[in-house]
Amino acid sequence: MPASLISTAFHQAGEAMVVADADLKVVAANAAFAELSGVEPYRLQGRCVRELLDKSHLITDPWEMLNARDHVKAEFTYRNRMGRNAPAILSVSRLRDDHGQPSHHLVVLSDLAALAASGRKTGREVYFDALTGLPNRDLLSQLLNESLEHAKRRGARVALCVLDVDHFKAINDRHGQTMGDSLIALLAQRISHLVHGDDILARIAGDEFALILQQGADEAVLSRLLEAVAAPFHLRGEALQVTVSLGVTFYPQDDADGDVLLRHATQAMHRAKQRGRNTFHVFDPRFDRELQAREVQRRRFRQAIENDELCLHYQPQVDMFDGRVIGLEALVRWQHPEQGLLAPGHFLPLVEGASLDALLGEWVLEAALKQLERWQRAGITLPVHVNISPAHLLSGHFVQRLTGLLACYPEVPATRLKLEVLESAAMGDLQAALATMRDCQNLGIDFAIDDFGTGYSSLTHLRQLPVDLIKIDQSFVRDMLIDPDDMAIVESVIFMANRFRRPMLAEGVESLDHARALLALGCAQAQGYGIARPMPAEAIPDWLADWPNRHEWTALAMHTIGNSRRSNVTKA
Ligand code: C2E
Ligand code: CA
Repeated sequence: MPASLISTAFHQAGEAMVVADADLKVVAANAAFAELSGVEPYRLQGRCVRELLDKSHLITDPWEMLNARDHVKAEFTYRNRMGRNAPAILSVSRLRDDHGQPSHHLVVLSDLAALAASGRKTGREVYFDALTGLPNRDLLSQLLNESLEHAKRRGARVALCVLDVDHFKAINDRHGQTMGDSLIALLAQRISHLVHGDDILARIAGDEFALILQQGADEAVLSRLLEAVAAPFHLRGEALQVTVSLGVTFYPQDDADGDVLLRHATQAMHRAKQRGRNTFHVFDPRFDRELQAREVQRRRFRQAIENDELCLHYQPQVDMFDGRVIGLEALVRWQHPEQGLLAPGHFLPLVEGASLDALLGEWVLEAALKQLERWQRAGITLPVHVNISPAHLLSGHFVQRLTGLLACYPEVPATRLKLEVLESAAMGDLQAALATMRDCQNLGIDFAIDDFGTGYSSLTHLRQLPVDLIKIDQSFVRDMLIDPDDMAIVESVIFMANRFRRPMLAEGVESLDHARALLALGCAQAQGYGIARPMPAEAIPDWLADWPNRHEWTALAMHTIGNSRRSNVTKA
């Protein structure tokens, strides 16, 4: 091939090319290279290619790789003529003379931005978003890792932001997708102009951007960003305004790898949305550690269910009028191998609202049914009250699962099982709760409303709820003798329940004085430490056998009130 043709090919090639000497000093550079680097061709002569391109920080250093081989091809970020980091494929070939000594290098730089702009999609080599020309998520993760590596070496700080346009769907719906796209492109431009040359903006989803701030950021920077975004855009004669929710996390305080940082910034962005949008939220690694610790505890609790480390204790319920035992409340306990017997207060908060809630609930139901079967065979026919959490009751398949469970224990009449639900549970989604409760009643299962008085009690609700027992919360009962306000609440709940002809039970009956006061007010059913503490199932037969001997309790009615009040009292 004639030398002149080779020279023309070199100078006119679309790829940026440099012939450098053995020390990587430029001998000749083509026009594409001058264009890419932004340095006039005549100024390139004699300069080190490495320094020309290498103003940015790199993790994989292609030049180092040349020590081991003659040909190197690597993904590379170089500082382009706009002073920004730009991605490229760098290929360097070492040329040797007739004696095998290195004489020159051929350096070729393929601009990946140009590739994206041209719209050609070539698998994973496409690193750019076609609409905005910004790096996409894949490229962002590479650039982020490079930034982190660089910050690590220099002991610097990096802020990673995730910005999500607020109500973007509504904008698209109202103005059409083309307008929405234009808005995203304008937004990208605006944010790019706000940041420093080496900061990196990427579009990581439809209306979501990530921003690497190489010098970190403070609140003022983030506020300015939000303000700038919120200024109106003028598009086809219309002034459009958008806001973003911004989540940010700081390296090295959040000492994690790029993917995790991106997840954290996204989490923080969601918090910003929850806090009302058009605001920023800083990810708190301490909070995340707490979340993770809870996750570990949840897993441990799931294991506890699977390993049968839970058990039920039973607390008797009595009628103070005739001294009869009328039922037992099942209360869950965790027999922890290291920490001993744990009350629900130790583990229920972990479970609440999570999928574990229903899992625990089903375990309790099944354990109660198993126990009911054992007692049935032993001639103990007391009903058992089981506490049902709001999430479990409203889980959607509650009735179906309960029906299945009941079928597994055919000896146990369904009426033997009673369910206690919190007043607030029923009120959360009243219609759904009512439907589920009615379905259960059709199976023969009665409901008690738990902790009555603490929630949303109102006459209307009480009238609507298909409950067969109202449990007066122990917090009022316990202090009713010393606190006139609590006494007033207990009085009015009893009055109301009697007017609606609903049976009621007082929880937290700790002493005979409580019992007498309640009876005098017209509440006969009671449960509390004064009668019995919750106990394991095995202790119940002995307790039942002993109960008739506790005359101070069983003969209460006779000592306390005259027959005149009997009519007020609703019996079991
Ligand atoms: P709760 O339904 O109000 O149950 C009564 C709680 O009061 C029980 O606490 C019981 O031990 C305690 N208690 C009973 N009498 C007295 C008394 O005279 N004085 C005082 N100070 N306390 C008394 P426990 O067993 O710690 O249960 C606490 C809560 O945990 C229960 O409150 C119930 O809401 C929930 N819970 C218990 N077992 C289960 C269960 O299997 N599933 C669900 N979802 N929740 C449960
Ligand atoms: Ca209860």
